[in-house]
Amino acid sequence: MEKIFWVKCPKCSDRFYCDYGLKSKQVKLICPFCQHEFGAAESPEIDDRQ
Ligand SMILES: [Zn+2]
Repeated sequence: MEKIFWVKCPKCSDRFYCDYGLKSKQVKLICPFCQHEFGAAESPEIDDRQ
C-alpha cells in the first residue's frame, strides 16, 4: 500500500494528500483546488500518521 500524508494548502486551506515520497524531498506540492505551489514545510498542517 502506498504511503500518503495529508497537507493543508496555505492559500485556500483545503486539505489534500500527497505521496509520502515527496515529503522529504524539496518538491513543490500543487494544490488541486487553487493550483498554488508550496513546499511541504510551508503547509500549516501536516498529517502523516501511519
Ligand atoms: Zn489551495
